[in-house]
Amino acid sequence: MINYLQNLTQDFPILKKKINGEPLLYLDNAATSQTPTPVLKQIRAFYQNENANVHRGVYTLANQATEKYERVREQVAAFIHAPNAETIVYTRSTTESLNLVASSFGNLVVQKGDEILITIMEHHSNLIPWQQLAKRKGATLKYVELTSDQTLDMADLRAKLTSRTKIVAITQTSNVLGVTNPIKIIARLVHEQHAYLVVDAAQAIPHQTIDVSDLNVDFLAFSGHKMLGPTGIGVLYGKAGLLAAMPPIQYGGEMIASVSRTEAKWQNAPWKFEAGTPNIGGVIGLGAAISYYQKLGVAEVRQKETQLMASLLPQLQAIPGVTIYGSPKPAEHAGIVSFNVANIHPHDMATGLDMLGIEVRAGHHCAQPLMAALGVSATVRASVSFYNASEDMERFAWSVERVKEFFE
Ligand code: PLP
Repeated sequence: MINYLQNLTQDFPILKKKINGEPLLYLDNAATSQTPTPVLKQIRAFYQNENANVHRGVYTLANQATEKYERVREQVAAFIHAPNAETIVYTRSTTESLNLVASSFGNLVVQKGDEILITIMEHHSNLIPWQQLAKRKGATLKYVELTSDQTLDMADLRAKLTSRTKIVAITQTSNVLGVTNPIKIIARLVHEQHAYLVVDAAQAIPHQTIDVSDLNVDFLAFSGHKMLGPTGIGVLYGKAGLLAAMPPIQYGGEMIASVSRTEAKWQNAPWKFEAGTPNIGGVIGLGAAISYYQKLGVAEVRQKETQLMASLLPQLQAIPGVTIYGSPKPAEHAGIVSFNVANIHPHDMATGLDMLGIEVRAGHHCAQPLMAALGVSATVRASVSFYNASEDMERFAWSVERVKEFFE
């Protein structure tokens, strides 16, 4: 299987591109993954041969499109071990999924004086919706801090989780540190306090098997474009009873059972949350991306990414002036390494690397409170995928040294 993974670059024509005259080395997979040809082919086949709106027509094409769209819902449910397809809501992205939970469910359960608990390592997508909900409701937003080794402080979580806590929202894997949090243990602690657990799985879904039933989470959100699918399609998993109780937050076509001049009745979940024409092509692409992952084997993908990290981390560490954030263990990085080089601004490093054909992210990574906790304003972040090779890691470390020399 690993050999098969090493020969996959042919599925990613973009990787043959040159950037600034150098072969492209794409190391921003945590921001968005590249889309393999089999996924592109299925999206194209849909628009070329099968395009019609879903849930509206009585004619053959519309029925076939609807069937495909709903079959992917079943595929997503099976992929994350959800009990059935009705627990899967299609959204635009992780961001939209989390906003939906905060605006609909959060509005129902959070009252004045309640507490919402998040962590200091949240992406702004899983921070601002709760910050704004707390403001609207007169609730308190609390943060679980990091330990000195930059993992989640579970003692702090236990201390801050009280009978006043109504919702705990937490990332499964940090987009900056790469660390993965113990969601199953956290779910048990949260439920002991009769609170609800919302999980941001945007960075976890490309790197590990997710079993929402075993984890016993109440909600879980992710995006297609971080797992080889197209942009503009996301997923919200929610427990059936919770989705049933939640009001929709967008209104329009497709989400209603009936409408009169003065009243409207909603469809059941998940359709009541999917107002208007959905991203049908995106759903087809998401289904194709899941099939592609399953062919590779999620465990094999993770193994390859850990091998790449095991090669890269010591090479980066050996460069004088480099500070790496997160765990020293390659298996605890989910293919992500954030670092800084003394006296070189992350944007300068990323621009220098771009001149050498290497694409990495630099900035606050939509995690400004985490940056403040780390005592920096920004970092450089390289994030690998299974389609990278170990020679890429050597080229990357060599290039960091060249850029460093240039600025010294
Ligand atoms: N959560 C995490 C941990 C992320 O890394 C990201 C994107 O980088 C998001 C949420 C937001 O994802 P999207 O922009 O697809 O909504």
